[in-house]
Amino acid sequence: THDVHIIGGGLAGSEAAWQLARRGVRVRLSEMRGTGERSPAHQTDALAELVCSNSFRSDDDEKNAVGLLHHEMRRLDSLVMAAAATAQVPAGSALAVDRDVFSAEVEAALAAQPTLEIVRERVDEVPASGLTIIATGPLTAAGLAQSIGTRTGSESLAFFDAIAPIVYRDSIDMDMCWMASRWDKGETKDYINCPMTKDQYLAFHAGLLAGDKTSFKEWEANTPYFDGCMPVEVMAERGVDTLRFGPMKPVGLDDPRTGRWPYAVVQLRQDNKLGTLWNMVGFQTKLKHAEQIRLFRTIPGLENAEFARLGGLHRNTFLNSPVLLDAQLRLGNAEHIRFAGQITGCEGYVESAAVGLMAGLMTAAQVANQSWSPPPRTTALGALLAHITGDAEADSYQPMNVNFGLFPPMHEVKKKQRKEAYTDRAKQDLGSWIISQPLIAA
Ligand code: FAD
Repeated sequence: THDVHIIGGGLAGSEAAWQLARRGVRVRLSEMRGTGERSPAHQTDALAELVCSNSFRSDDDEKNAVGLLHHEMRRLDSLVMAAAATAQVPAGSALAVDRDVFSAEVEAALAAQPTLEIVRERVDEVPASGLTIIATGPLTAAGLAQSIGTRTGSESLAFFDAIAPIVYRDSIDMDMCWMASRWDKGETKDYINCPMTKDQYLAFHAGLLAGDKTSFKEWEANTPYFDGCMPVEVMAERGVDTLRFGPMKPVGLDDPRTGRWPYAVVQLRQDNKLGTLWNMVGFQTKLKHAEQIRLFRTIPGLENAEFARLGGLHRNTFLNSPVLLDAQLRLGNAEHIRFAGQITGCEGYVESAAVGLMAGLMTAAQVANQSWSPPPRTTALGALLAHITGDAEADSYQPMNVNFGLFPPMHEVKKKQRKEAYTDRAKQDLGSWIISQPLIAA
């Protein structure tokens, strides 16, 4: 027997389970992987698998909204943040992790909770009763997605996302490439940089345009791309220089052999703790696999590259949350059902875990019959929650990363100081809020 049923052991479901179990709530966590079934993007049976990049993005909590979200989650004892700290690998000012160490940490912490039962099973129906958190993510299995659709009385929305290839470090020609971060002062040489001349870049650009792409006829028409995860060949279509001003930007990267910036660069970022796997930054793609191998091996330094994983394209399912969910992430017409993670229309690992964290706290307050108020809008958590549950335009609701645009504006502060002003205010308001919540202060 359990008090709360969580469906989905991804970023959001794992964090929600932690917040409940560590408060002694009896939880059943149902995860489909481990039964022989996986989504098209998942490659392991581990809880909280990172399906693409190994980065939780900026860890700067003074000038960056996602860094601020890290800070706030840490103050609320986030399991995802604790596991990330243990699994961290170098990535400049970003928080990147060894994905296997990260998942193992999450799973071990959850397995050690006496009131938590982890069950490997696929759930096909929205439960008719009992407190439930649905955290099945952007690739929710079809049966449950259909059941949710029936419950919500509206079609789930879908859009495209793409993933980037991963290369084995020892297959990269380091006589051609060099290690450096942008504007490197000599200390943080975190990226592998592959330089390109103008001719090489133009040929590569032409190759991207001509390359054979995968198509997804049933659902491709009219489904938009999320801007932060646009396939490299779609970016190439926007203009010959779009990539050179985007992921292939050479500025601040002196090639040690010439002492100058190359015409363009391809950057790779460390993907695991051992430093054996490196992902191609910004190279998410829907080129066919053979085409990726052929074309990416024309990049200087990657002539003999071996790929641990090739890029791919996937669908993203999410609810029209501003219309369907109340301020506590509950389904308007079935209040025992709460949603968390990317299925609510937030975007990103950190955001998904953050919404899981809040869903866990809300449910814990409900079980303990304690009062609950949402985190203030001036915090990253509160801003994200407000976006999901009410502020967004429902007609055009699109998944969104946390950003300062979601915060109540501070026009009175000079633009140069505004980011610090947002984060200062958030930290102060979060502190007052924590004290006011019996559940958290306890
Ligand atoms: P998930 O982490 O996907 O967890 C959902 C879990 O539910 C899974 O374990 C799944 O097996 C399980 N499940 C599904 N259906 C059922 C069912 N019926 N019964 C039981 N269990 C079920 N974000 C980033 O920040 N950076 C990236 O690089 C990035 N790349 C992405 C690439 C891809 C291919 C995808 C799909 C998403 C990507 N995202 C990325 C977006 C998002 O952050 C991740 O999808 C994130 O994992 C979402 O967290 P979640 O907990 O909501 O869902």
